[in-house]
Amino acid sequence: MIKDMDGTSILVTQATMPELDEYVESISDLWDSHWITNMGIKHQELQKELVKYLEVDAIELLTNGHMALELSMQAMGLKGEVITTPFTFASTTHAIVRNGLSPVFCDINAEDYTIDVKKIESLITDKTCAIVPVHVYGNVCDVDEIDRIAKKYELKVIYDAAHAFGIKYKGIGIGMFGDASCFSFHATKVFNTIEGGAVCFHNKDFGVELYRLKNFGIRDPETVDGVGANAKMNEFCAAMGLCNLRHIDENISKRRQVAECYRKRLNGVEGIKLMPVQPQVQSNYAYFPIVIDEKTFGLSRNEIFMILEKNGIKTRKYFYPLTNSFECFHGKYDTDLTPIARYISKRVLTLPLYGDLDLEDVEHICDIILQCHG
Ligand SMILES: *Cc1c(COP(=O)(O)O)cnc(C)c1O
Repeated sequence: MIKDMDGTSILVTQATMPELDEYVESISDLWDSHWITNMGIKHQELQKELVKYLEVDAIELLTNGHMALELSMQAMGLKGEVITTPFTFASTTHAIVRNGLSPVFCDINAEDYTIDVKKIESLITDKTCAIVPVHVYGNVCDVDEIDRIAKKYELKVIYDAAHAFGIKYKGIGIGMFGDASCFSFHATKVFNTIEGGAVCFHNKDFGVELYRLKNFGIRDPETVDGVGANAKMNEFCAAMGLCNLRHIDENISKRRQVAECYRKRLNGVEGIKLMPVQPQVQSNYAYFPIVIDEKTFGLSRNEIFMILEKNGIKTRKYFYPLTNSFECFHGKYDTDLTPIARYISKRVLTLPLYGDLDLEDVEHICDIILQCHG
């Protein structure tokens, strides 16, 4: 165990990086071309490799996952209300609001914490234009039911797939579902390009629009017909992605070992609920959240968080607070309307998980949690 600057021994995650030599090799030709951004060779190569790896129709690379969400909504020209969940990272809700859209918060289900599909239809009004579900922790939403509802009411579906890199459902790449799926390639995610993101989609016109919006709305040098942003992935980030992609399967399999170790130790412990293993899902082992019931476990989530921290172990209250309780929304939304999300949010703790986490450290973390219980 290596201690970092503030004495912490184990962080909640650690960015995956290739060997330095591999990265240097990968970027060295940039010194010949001097083409370091604006859809250069690395960008094009990564795009091609990701279409293959994710088994999707098409992909557009962006500076980050947030811009993937924000520009997808803009590219679809959405107006009105968007049904989404508050049990997510700030980005999902902010992307909706920053597009001038109104989030309508649907509760999550208590099983896998994704949107409760039984509650979606009651929230649809004549203003609803889209559903933005989140494959939270890499748990696959009920994509079949969401698809049925979207077709029935003619709604767009944009998945926040920030946690879902490389996941397959019924053997199909997760990026194939909905009108668009937005991935994050942030340093803390299963696959990273330092900072980065991507949108997977099917519709060619949407792809053209997205490309235009990520480049200031410039259609051609003399035609600027969209109010775009700047969200182009640069060559150094794309090169990092190309390196990390070579090792992704090995990395996911190491994550699986960590997750299985936690599962072996914590499964069946009174007062601790683990995520279910979803049938027909090839997982990426992105996160290992546990939900702690104070009454049966004996200690609260916050107490366990503190005890682990005192032992040099960083965990995250991921996702707490709910996005519909953020101060920036000035009490505009009512968390009473999403009671399951609120319940889980107050009890969830995400344990350290990354490919290079020692299994001995995992055992040590479990020992501490189990001592709390005993
Ligand atoms: C990380 C994350 C994002 C944002 O991605 P960035 O690449 O950090 O901009 C969006 N949604 C969820 C659920 C995330 O975890």
